[in-house]
Amino acid sequence: MPRTILHTPNEVKYPVCGYEYVNPVALKVEPVSDDTIGYINRDGLRTVPSHAAERIRGIQRTTTFLCEEAHQWDEVRAFHKGITSQAIECGPDWSDLECAPTTIWRD
Ligand SMILES: [Zn+2]
Repeated sequence: MPRTILHTPNEVKYPVCGYEYVNPVALKVEPVSDDTIGYINRDGLRTVPSHAAERIRGIQRTTTFLCEEAHQWDEVRAFHKGITSQAIECGPDWSDLECAPTTIWRD
């Protein structure tokens, strides 16, 4: 069945500097089960032991982005009791882009 596009996405930009060259550097889902989280970065997919279920009710998905001016931020969406909320958490700013995390995948 064809899907209906309700929204044509805009480019993601860092909300502070507005720079349009933005790279996804990590994706985290927590908890995946009572005692694990799922984490993806340039090294691949890992399932990591965690006590996330003790502090997170429902499920939370975090995408970490890095603009090419070395600003990093998290886009967090959390689901609990039928409500999905979202937040943007800024930082850190990297003084040296060479030290910052790199894109999950690039071909
Ligand atoms: Zn920036």
